[in-house]
Amino acid sequence: MRELNAIQSILTKALLTARESNAQQIKSVQLAIGEISELDQNSIQKHWDELSQDTPAEHAKLHFHLINAEVQCMACFMKYDPVDGEIHCPHCGSYGAKILSGEEFYLESIELDHG
Ligand SMILES: [Zn+2]
Repeated sequence: MRELNAIQSILTKALLTARESNAQQIKSVQLAIGEISELDQNSIQKHWDELSQDTPAEHAKLHFHLINAEVQCMACFMKYDPVDGEIHCPHCGSYGAKILSGEEFYLESIELDHG
């Protein structure tokens, strides 16, 4: 459900941008998605298709920009990129870490068609 809400708010923002610039159609949408955000691109696409029906975003092509995760070990404070989303410090072996990036999901840019 969190996913659906996030997609809905991105769609709303994209439609607003299109209206403000008097665009007929949204050609494509670029979404930033964190490596460990647990969001699935296929399911985002599916929700998008449902939500964007009968809107100028209906035929928009979705592009995904994957953002690498970075976490900071709580034991040794080293920063590392979790492999396969797994939080396990390669320096000291600790499992506790603070997530610095990688959970993002937001609208990065859109391409408009002014007809
Ligand atoms: Zn560590």
